Amino acid sequence: MDYEAVIGLEVHAQLRTATKAFCRCSTQYGAAPNTNVCPVCLGHPGALPVLNRAVVEMTLRMGLATGCQIRPRSRFARKNYFYPDLPKGYQISQYDDPICYAGALEIELEDGSTKRIGITRIHMEEDAGKSIHDMDIETLVDLNRCGVPLIEIVSEPDIRSPREAVLYVQAIRQIVMYLGICDGNMEEGSLRCDANVSVRPRGASTFGTKTEVKNLNSFRNIEKALAYEIERHIAVLERGGTIEQETRMWDAAAQRTRPMRTKEFAHDYRYFPEPDLVPVVVSAEWIERVRSELPELPLARKRRLQQQYGLPAYDAGVLVAERPIADYFERTCQHLIEPSPERFKLVSNWIMTEVLRVLGERKIGIEDFPIGAEHLAELVELQAAQTISSRIAKELFAELLVQPSSPKALVAERGMVQVSDTALIEQLVERALSENPDTIAKWRSGKTNVLGFLVGQVMKYSDGKANPALVRQLLLERLGSPDAVPR
Ligand code: ADP
Ligand code: MG
Ligand code: ZN
Repeated sequence: MDYEAVIGLEVHAQLRTATKAFCRCSTQYGAAPNTNVCPVCLGHPGALPVLNRAVVEMTLRMGLATGCQIRPRSRFARKNYFYPDLPKGYQISQYDDPICYAGALEIELEDGSTKRIGITRIHMEEDAGKSIHDMDIETLVDLNRCGVPLIEIVSEPDIRSPREAVLYVQAIRQIVMYLGICDGNMEEGSLRCDANVSVRPRGASTFGTKTEVKNLNSFRNIEKALAYEIERHIAVLERGGTIEQETRMWDAAAQRTRPMRTKEFAHDYRYFPEPDLVPVVVSAEWIERVRSELPELPLARKRRLQQQYGLPAYDAGVLVAERPIADYFERTCQHLIEPSPERFKLVSNWIMTEVLRVLGERKIGIEDFPIGAEHLAELVELQAAQTISSRIAKELFAELLVQPSSPKALVAERGMVQVSDTALIEQLVERALSENPDTIAKWRSGKTNVLGFLVGQVMKYSDGKANPALVRQLLLERLGSPDAVPR
């Protein structure tokens, strides 16, 4: 039988607030264990939570960016469960009436088409602490993360393959980073994903029983865990079995999912309205203010870069992946004195290859990149006008990395201008031929690879300043067609 997968994701994103959701403790990652804590986030009796306004602001940003409806009045609920890293014995979350609901996200598939993934809800909640199990005999508990604000973004079961699931989470990650509400760092757990998956005969109108896979902290793991789980479901069904509704975890070392616990149901958590917090009331003015301040989102920006600058889809995708990179691209283009699609493409090439390489090697962001947009623009213009060869452009780039300065000024100062003077290059061509008398004979006998060698010689005589295309052309004219090559 031919099966189809059905996937719905629950993505948790840690909000980049300075302080926790309900107390004034710092949210700083990596602080000494159990130092960012207070009676509120430790759940001491009588300590009362107060909602951090920034949590609502950031949640509204995400809700509006994904076309959600906003509830003017929503409330918090207690989700009760026991775990050593949950000192209160409950998590403050939202259950009925979450603040955002009924939105959608457009993802772009590999073939360039788009697909709409429904967003059921986005709600606010607090994170739990961290249990560290890597000691032989003990479990250590760090409560710094207790009370750090999260949003949970729940998708409709609209996703149909592991690849689509990855594209969806990538889109979420880009959006939260564009909105400045989450750092998107999956390794540090700032963005986490639980995946719900079921299979059904292709064409069926009802869903199969789902399992939920926890602990997915990278795109690779999301894709592999889902592929594994889909195969497993199909195998069980094929041999006449039934899928157990359960919670499983991805074991990356063994490359398989394992059962964690039988499925919990909402009633197991004894949800009830949080009595210590008043309802969250969001005015129409607040919503409109946040809406008006939303930045252009990644997919829209990608489309615009393709249109406005004539960039290929691939380039636009690479550039918009991080907002500061796309900003740098556009700033550089604005500095071009003679803007043109060729020059925009050159800017894009420089950024996609050299700039991103340096950022990766130095592990820095574009804000710490030493070559300013105006200087990259100058470099591109010198190159586009063929004032300098691409080899010299590369050399200058390497120099600017060490010592910021104006490439135009450097070129003028040092006479690095590319030589396109035919008469001068002809002289150098003659010299190359007379110093290498055997090459003409080789060329005649069909050893056409001597051409590259001769171009190299001329470039050397000119200190790399000759226009290589012109050198090649003049050499070819002088050598004529090789005899061994049939005409
Ligand atoms: P639960 O109460 O078990 O958490 P929900 O109905 O709240 O289940 O859905 C949780 C997530 O599971 C959502 O992202 C939803 O899209 C997804 N989901 C629900 N039913 C299925 C199904 N049959 N197959 C795959 N995903 C599903
Ligand atoms: Mg769930
Ligand atoms: Zn605290």
